[in-house]
Amino acid sequence: MLKSLQGKTVVVTGASRGIGKGIALRFGEAGLNVLVVSRNQAEADGVAAVIGANAAGFAADVSTAEGCEAMAKEASDCFGGIDVLCANAGIFPAAKLGEMTAADFDNVLTTNLRSTFLSVSAVLPAMTAAGGGRIVITSSITGPITGYPGWSHYGASKAGQLGFMRTAAIELAPKRITVNAVMPGNIFTEGLEGMGGDYIAKMEASIPMRRLGSVADIANAALFFASEEAGYITGQAMVVDGGQVLPESLGALEAI
Ligand code: NAP
Repeated sequence: MLKSLQGKTVVVTGASRGIGKGIALRFGEAGLNVLVVSRNQAEADGVAAVIGANAAGFAADVSTAEGCEAMAKEASDCFGGIDVLCANAGIFPAAKLGEMTAADFDNVLTTNLRSTFLSVSAVLPAMTAAGGGRIVITSSITGPITGYPGWSHYGASKAGQLGFMRTAAIELAPKRITVNAVMPGNIFTEGLEGMGGDYIAKMEASIPMRRLGSVADIANAALFFASEEAGYITGQAMVVDGGQVLPESLGALEAI
C-alpha cells in the first residue's frame, strides 16, 4: 500500500481523453488536486467535472511556452502549488518517408517533444519552491524500442523524450525532483473504438497477454512514479505493454 498523496497537486497535460484522462481520473481518485489540461476548455472541464471539486479544467497549447506558463500559474493559483507533472499530451499522425513533409515532422516533434521540455520548465519554479516534485513523461514503446511504418517522426519524438529525461533527472536530482517515463504499448482509448474488431484482434495477437492495455494500466504506473515510495527512482523508463516487446519472432508468439 502506497502512502497517501491526498491533497497534493498534479498537472496532467493531454487529459481530455485517452491515457491522460485515465491518469487524471486515477490521480483524482487518489485524492490529488488535478489540473486537467488540453487545448479544448469544454472537454477539459468535462473531465474535471467527473473527478469532482478537487479538479479544474484548463485550456492550453503545451507546444508553446505561453501555454505552459499559463498552465503552471493556473495550477498554483487554484491549488497553491504543483507537486506532480504528468507530461502526457501527444499526437500521432501517420506519414511514410517520401510523403512526410518537414512541416509534418516539425509538428510532431513540437507537440510531443518540445512540449515536454516546455511543460517541465514551466512547473520547475513551483516544484523548487515546494522542495521537491515528481515528473512523469508519457513516452511509448514506439521509437525507444520498436518502429511502425508512418511513425518515424513520432518514434523520434518518443525516443527524444527519454533522452531529455535522463539529463533532466540528473540536473533536478539535487532539487529532489524525480523525472521518469512510462512507455505504453497498445492502449485501448476512445481513438481505437471506431477501428473495428479485426484491427483490434490483430493488435491483440501480437501481445503475449492477448489484450490491449487499459488507460488504468498506464495511470497506475504513473501513480507509482508519483508516490513517496518511488522517491529514489529517477531517470527511468517503465514499459507497460503486456509483454508486447518481448517476442523475438512471430514464432515465439505462436509457440505460446
Ligand atoms: P489521445 O486520445 O489522442 O489524447 C491526446 C490528448 O492530448 C488529448 O487530450 C488532446 O487534447 C491533447 N493534446 C494534443 N495536442 C495538445 C497540445 N498541443 N496542447 C495540449 N494538449 C494537447 O492520445 P492518447 O492515445 O491518449 O495518447 C496520449 C499519450 O500517450 C501521447 O503522448 C502518446 O504518444 C502516448 N502513447 C499512446 C499510446 C496508445 O496506445 N494510445 C501508446 C503509446 C504512447 P486536445 O486535442 O483537445 O488538445
